Parts: sequence; structure tokens; C-alpha cells
Amino acid sequence: MKNIFDLTGKVAIVVGGSRGLGKGMAVGLADAGASVVIASRGKEALEAAAAEISEQTGGTCVGMQLDVTSLPDIQAFIQKVDERFGRIDILINSAGINIRKSAQVFEEEDWDKVTDTQLKYVFFMDQQVGNYMIERGIRGRIINIGSLSSAIGLKNMVAYCASKGAIVQLTKALANEWAPFGITVNAIGPGYYFTEMTKPLLSDPEVMRKYQEKIPMGRLGNPEDLAGTAVYLASDASSYVTGQIVYVDGGWLIN
Ligand code: NAP
Repeated sequence: MKNIFDLTGKVAIVVGGSRGLGKGMAVGLADAGASVVIASRGKEALEAAAAEISEQTGGTCVGMQLDVTSLPDIQAFIQKVDERFGRIDILINSAGINIRKSAQVFEEEDWDKVTDTQLKYVFFMDQQVGNYMIERGIRGRIINIGSLSSAIGLKNMVAYCASKGAIVQLTKALANEWAPFGITVNAIGPGYYFTEMTKPLLSDPEVMRKYQEKIPMGRLGNPEDLAGTAVYLASDASSYVTGQIVYVDGGWLIN
């Protein structure tokens, strides 16, 4: 029987793949047979992660530097991936930053920094890769990363919540425009995972205890918990699924 999750011969980009959730998803894609390009700003972390993923999966994973908050950088990056691999089938947008501050003192500069990475350039990355796919007739897969805050309003991260709420609508709007080209656009909404981003919050044992109590499955997620959903949304297994957000949160949003 055909393996509908098989990604052999596919080329995937994971922006933010050098660590955290992006890295967990990159491992999943490489394990499923895709050639994976991980992209982020920090060169050393990128090269180390690419070597680790290749070794762990026995597949192909290379690191290419990218600052996703620059359209010319995005365009040069796509050209580089094309020169190296000749096609792009899958994009996962997992770059992210957060600034935790009360809404009352949230500054204009904070707002721009967070929304640039978490919304504006998610769109431009989607747009540039989407156009690449459309021009070549590639029936690709685009996966954006939402959050619990795509559904609920969390305190002290107003720009982050606004961006992640908008990711749901961005995903639906692109899914609608690109369905005729055979391109699916979906999102994943992770719950709480211990990464560089959440370390400042989750290093507090009291916060950690409260969160574990609130999560019906009784534990935080590990980045590898996202691998299955990423492979599903990247593969033929989800060929009739588009415009959706799949929450991978141990049940947080149930109650
Ligand atoms: P993380 O561990 O801090 O990783 C963020 C990644 O994004 C790194 O690879 C980082 O590398 C890259 N990055 C940041 N700014 C970039 C830029 N301008 N250009 C290119 N790459 C950039 O964070 P994470 O927890 O894995 O978060 C990944 C995504 O999941 C984010 O969208 C986040 O909002 C979302 N999320 C996380 C959680 C959680 O519990 N951790 C929950 C829900 C949603 P460089 O800094 O070297 O560029």
C-alpha cells in the first residue's frame, strides 16, 4: 500500500528551524524523506542543527541563513534554495519572537518588532514561496504557526496575540486564493512547549506547576510532538485539507 505520509523527493523549507519547534518539525519532515532546508539568522546554531538533523534522520538537512524580516533576503534565499535543490514543495514558517510587557506600556517599537516577525513577513514568505510554486505548477503545502493565542487572549503579549489571531485569517485567505492551484495553506497552533522563547516564563517553577495542572494531558509539549502534524499537513495525507488550524496543545483549549 502507498504510504500517504511519504515525503521522498520533496523539498521543504523550515524558517526558524535552527531550534525549538521549527527544529522538531524539521526532524519530522526529514524522517519522512524530505530534503529539508532550515533557515534562521544565527549561522552557528543553524549549521549545528542541520548536522544534527541529518545524522539523527539519515536524511538531507542543510542550513541557509535568512533574516525573514527582509523581502530582498527572502527573495535571495528562495533563489539559493532553487539553485541547490531545483524545487520547493513545502514551507513551514516557524520563525518567532515575543516581547512580554503589559499593554499599558507596550511601545511602538515593540509592536513593530513582534508583528514584523510574527505576521508581516509570514505573509511575504508565504507570498514569495506561493508565487514560486504557482509559476512552476507545484501543488505545494504551506504551513504557518499559530498559537493558543490564535484562539484566546493571553496577558502581557498583546502584539503576539494580535499577530497569532491574524495568522488564522491570513491562512484562510491564502488557502482560498491558492486552492485553484492545488496549494494547501494550513496552520498549526502549538500549546506550551519549553523553548528559548518560553524559557523566561516557564523557568518559574510556580508557573510551570500551574500550566501542567491546566493541561489535560498533564505535561508541556516537546518539539517532536509537532512532527506528526507537520508531516500530515505537508503530505498527501492532507490533500483535501486547507485553511485549517490544528491545535497541538495536550488539550489546553478544551476548557
Ligand atoms: P525559539 O526556540 O525562540 O525559535 C525561534 C526560531 O526563529 C529560531 O530558529 C530563530 O533563530 C528564528 N528566528 C527568529 N527571528 C528570525 C528572523 N528574523 N529571521 C529568521 N529566523 C528567525 O521559538 P519557538 O518556541 O520554537 O517558536 C517557534 C514558533 O512557534 C514561533 O512562531 C512561536 O510564536 C510559535 N509558538 C511557540 C510556542 C511555545 O510554547 N514555544 C507556542 C505556540 C507558538 P535566530 O534567532 O538565529 O534567527
